[in-house]
Parts: sequence; structure tokens; C-alpha cells
Amino acid sequence: MAKDEKKTEGQKLQEKLSYKRKNYFEEASKEERDAIFSYAEGYKRFLDVSKTEREACEYAVRAAKENGFTEYFFGDKLKKGDKKYFVNRGKSVVLFRVGSKNPEQDGFRIIASHIDAPRIDIKQNPLYEDSGVCFLKTHYYGGIKKYQWTAIPLALHGTVILSDGSKKEIRIGDEENEPVFYINDLLPHLGADQMSKNAGRFIDAEQLNVVVGGLPYPDKETSNKIKLTALKILNEKYGMCEEDFLSSELSAVPAFSARDVGLDRAFIGAYGHDDRVCAYPALTALIEQDSEHTVLAMLVDKEEIGSEGTTGIQCKVYEDLMEEIALALGANYRKVRAASKCLSSDVTAAYDSNFSEVFEKMNAAYVSCGTCMSKFTGARGKSGSNDASAEFVGEIRKIFADEGVVWQTAELGKVDVGGGGTVAKFVAKLNIDTVDLGVPVLSMHAPYELISKADLYSNYKAFLAFLK
Ligand code: MN
Ligand code: MN
Repeated sequence: MAKDEKKTEGQKLQEKLSYKRKNYFEEASKEERDAIFSYAEGYKRFLDVSKTEREACEYAVRAAKENGFTEYFFGDKLKKGDKKYFVNRGKSVVLFRVGSKNPEQDGFRIIASHIDAPRIDIKQNPLYEDSGVCFLKTHYYGGIKKYQWTAIPLALHGTVILSDGSKKEIRIGDEENEPVFYINDLLPHLGADQMSKNAGRFIDAEQLNVVVGGLPYPDKETSNKIKLTALKILNEKYGMCEEDFLSSELSAVPAFSARDVGLDRAFIGAYGHDDRVCAYPALTALIEQDSEHTVLAMLVDKEEIGSEGTTGIQCKVYEDLMEEIALALGANYRKVRAASKCLSSDVTAAYDSNFSEVFEKMNAAYVSCGTCMSKFTGARGKSGSNDASAEFVGEIRKIFADEGVVWQTAELGKVDVGGGGTVAKFVAKLNIDTVDLGVPVLSMHAPYELISKADLYSNYKAFLAFLK
């Protein structure tokens, strides 16, 4: 009070009329700060066992079951209070709860995030040896800076369907005692030519070959002895033959685990914050938040390559699910969609003072200033973007204000410098009001990305508020 009385007229007026972004760590009470840090522990555990969309999906199903959710199949009856999960091909999952409000008037409240992340996929005929080393050939997945994926420890994750139709899950390289895999880079001593290239050509895609072995099979009469050793190990461990790679989905992902970063542990470094830093809060908020609304958390696949295919959000299966829910509740699906609201929950670029030239300071997302709303994404004049309406942004703003959510708003970089897209436009197409909301990330799409624990928790709080 005394402090307030000392303020001048102008200072008071400025406070009343001006907008200022807030640092959430600074705003948080002691209790809330503790909550920020303890929530991050669960998130790190989730990251370490969810390096592919299949693993994230499995985690979500496990968490759902543990919290009384049961599996839903098309055509099932639904009633108020039901807690359900719907799995799509083991690669995406939708959790939902049936609320007491009339869905024709209230619609659904939807959070849509993705659980796939950039990585190095293994080709269908990948195995060869050359000059004492056995490699796997690869085809990268999503938008990566290829040179960042060399000379780091990699783990091999994925699924192989054998000739008899049986399925084998492969996961090697995350445990302390397991071997890792590796992509070579050139030594600087011989790198003069390489160093003169621009970074996009620094490592060619066809040079991203993964080292998998070096031990020759002990038989002088055979050729490709190192490859044979690799095949033998795969055969002993998984019953695999070389031909089984044809029906496999294997990926090399960073073998790093999620770690606190900084003396004060404010940040988390990890592989795949994009977009598990939104998927995890979506999952936990949906599990925890009892709501009068009918609410859905969609954890989808294939966002990094355009939301295509049977597991990307453009697939009809998600619409079918919403229609089935509406039908089961005796509601007109078109009315339900028209009344629904969606947070398209994906990460955005955090302002980086080391690369300030690509950001417009007033409209950038700052780490620790809370989860970030992007009214629009896209590139060059908002092209390819869902540009949310002022009315809808106003509605969400009010929800956040009522629940004390610390949040910010931003665009992805300076106008005309670059851009990006999310699943927002595909949901909006269904006549569902949608806006982007997600955590600012440093070094997005790098093998090890950085986020602030405050932003993670703010995202979770925003979802709790939205679903309430
Ligand atoms: Mn993303
Ligand atoms: Mn991405």
C-alpha cells in the first residue's frame, strides 16, 4: 500500500493502460514455483520413454488406464461422466471425457497436439558394409539441419513386421549399458572444402548413414562379414532377416535423456520437446480436469511432414470419432462442431538473443513468459495460416485471465524471414474455432532442444483453464 502511494499519477496511469509481458518465474508464488519444478519431473520421465509417436501413444494409454479411462471403439454407447481413450494404429491417441453440458450448445473443447518429432528414419533396404564399418542407410523425417545429427549418440527405435506377420519392437541405445549408434562427420583437418559449403550442403542426406557394427563374422570363406555379424545379432535378438527391413519402421533418435539445464535448473534440455511439451500437458490436464464440457485431447502423428496419412490430423478418423461421440450423445454433429473450440497446441520459436536478427522484438515469444498464443502462423502475408478471430482470441483471453494463467502472444520470427504451420488450419476447416497455443522452444528441431520449466507449467495451467 505504502509503495503504491508513492507512485506518481503518470506511473499509475501507465500501469493501468500499458501491456507488459511477465516473467512467470517472477510472478509465481513460492507454492507455484514449487509446482513448476515438480511438474517438470513427470515431464522428463515421460520424455525419456516417449521418443517416438508409438512410445508416446503407449505412455498416454498407460496413463489413461491408470486413471480409470477405458478404450473406446466406434459404435460404443456413451454417457455423462465417461472417460475414454481411442487409439489410432498405435501411433496416435485421443482421450476424451463426456461432460454434462448439452453438446449442441456447448460443443467440444479440444486440445490438439502432436507426438511425432524430427528424426532419422532407416530406409527399407538399409544394410551395407564398407571399409570395415557396417551402416544403415537413412531418409530423414521432418525439417532438420542435417549437420546437427552427426557425431552424437543415437538410439534405434521402431517396429519390424516379420515374414510370418509377427511384430517386434526394437529399442536399443537408451540404457546406460546398451550400445549407441552414430553418424560420422568429417574431421576439421580435411574439412576445408566442406567448411566452404553453406550449412544446408554441409552433410548430404545420403551421407547420413548410421554406424551399426564393425566385427567380421569369423569365416574366411564368406563376404560382407561385418554385415553378416549384424544380421546374425538381429536374427538372434528379434528373429529378423534382411528382408524384414522391407516391412519395418525404424528410426535413429538422439540417445540423450532429458536433463535440467542451468545452475538454477530453470530449463530442460531434451530431444522432442516439439511437440511433447504440449502433448504431455494436454494429457495430464485432460486426465485431471473434471469438466462440465465434453473435452478431447488429441495426440496425433505426422505433423512434422504435413499431417498426412492415416495417423496425421488430416485423416478422416478424427472427424469420424467426433461424429461418433456426437451421435452417441444424441446430438447433431454439425451443431456440435459449430459450437466447439480448439487449442491447436504446438510449440513456437523462443526469442534467442544470439540470433536477434530474425525476431521482431515486440512480437516474439520470450522464454519463461508463459505459454504463447499465435493468432496466426503461416508465411509471407499469413499464407497457409488459420488466422483466429478477435472474438475467439478474446474468449480464450478471458478464460486465462479468470484462472490466472501467465501467457504471451507472438509470431514466429520477423515477417518474410520464414514461417511455419501447425494442425490449426485442418481443425478450423471443420467449422471449429481454433487458435495456436504452445511453449516457446530454443533450438527447435535440433537433436537437443531447450524449454523453460515455467512455460511448460503455464501451458498445463492454460489447458486446465480451457478444459474447466
Ligand atoms: Mn510442432
Ligand atoms: Mn516441428
